[in-house]
Amino acid sequence: MAAQLLDGKAMAAKIKESLKGEVEQLKSKLGKAPHLAAVQVGKNEASAVYLKSQIKNAEKLGIEYKLHELEENSTQEQVEEYIEKLNLNTTVTGIILQMPLPQGMDAKKLQRIISPIKDVEAMHPENLGRVVFGKPKVGPCTAMAVIELIESAGVDLYGKEAVVVGHSEIVGKPVALMLLEKFVTTTVCHIGTGERGFLPEHVKRAEVLVVAVGKAGLVKGEWVKEGAIVVDVGINRIEGKIVGDVEFEEAQNRASFITPVPGGVGPLTVTMLMRNTVEAFKAQQGE
Ligand code: NAD
Repeated sequence: MAAQLLDGKAMAAKIKESLKGEVEQLKSKLGKAPHLAAVQVGKNEASAVYLKSQIKNAEKLGIEYKLHELEENSTQEQVEEYIEKLNLNTTVTGIILQMPLPQGMDAKKLQRIISPIKDVEAMHPENLGRVVFGKPKVGPCTAMAVIELIESAGVDLYGKEAVVVGHSEIVGKPVALMLLEKFVTTTVCHIGTGERGFLPEHVKRAEVLVVAVGKAGLVKGEWVKEGAIVVDVGINRIEGKIVGDVEFEEAQNRASFITPVPGGVGPLTVTMLMRNTVEAFKAQQGE
C-alpha cells in the first residue's frame, strides 16, 4: 500500500492560523507586533523564493517585516556594523540573515554577531547550544519542521531506529539532537558514509529516515525499510521540476509515511521561522 503523505502545506496552514490569533492577542495587549528585519547582501536567485515566502507569510500573520538590502560589494565589517545596529534598534525584535552571502564573506561570524534574543533562525552558538539541552522554543527552522512532520505521523518514537543523511548545522545535526531528545536511536550519515559505500546498509534499517543532502535520487527507493517514516528535505531542480533526494515513487510503495517534494518540509520551514519570530518577541516582552 502506498505511504500516507505528510502534508507540510496543510500542517503549515494550521500552525499559521493559530500564530495569527496569537499575534493579534499580543498586539492588542502590548500595542505592538513582532518586527522581523531581513538582511540581504547583494541579489540572490537562490534565496528569492524563500524571501518572497517570508514576506507573504509575515504579512498574513500581522508580523512587521522589513527587508534591508545591502550592496553586493559590502565589506564584512560593513555588514557586521549593520547587524550591530539592528541589535540595538529596539523596534526590531527578530533578525534573519539571508543565505547565501557573497563569496568570501564569513557567514558564521555574522551569525555569531546577531543578538541571541533576536536570532530567529537559531544559528547563534548560544541558540544552537540550547538544542543540545532539550526543547528550545526557538530552534533551527528546517530541523524543527522535520520534527513536526515526523511527530504528525502519530507513531510512538521511543527506541526507534532513525537515520539522518546529511550533517549540516542547519538540518542534519540539529535534527539528530532533537531525535535523541525523544529517545530515538539515531545514526548520522554524511559524505564520508556515502563515499565508503555504507549508505544503503544504514538507510535499510531506518524506521525513521531523514535525508538532507541536495542530490536528486541519492537514496534509492529499494533501500527504504517497509513501513518507514521518510522525510525528504532535499531540493533539487531537475528539468524544471523540483524533486527531493529520495526516489519518491519507489519509496512511497515501501514507506508508511512520506513527505512530498515540494509541499513537505518547505512550507513548514517558513512557518517555523514565523513561530520563532513570535517566540523571540514574547521572550523579549516577558510573555
Ligand atoms: P549542506 O550542503 O550543508 O550539507 C549536505 C550534507 O550532505 C553534508 O552533511 C554532506 O556530508 C552530505 N552528503 C553529501 N553527499 C553525500 C553522499 N553522497 N552521501 C551521504 N551524504 C552526503 O546542505 P543543507 O544546507 O543541509 O541542505 C541539504 C538539502 O536540503 C539541500 O537540497 C537544500 O536545498 C535542502 N534544504 C531544504 C530546506 C527546506 O526548507 N525544504 C531547508 C534547508 C535545506
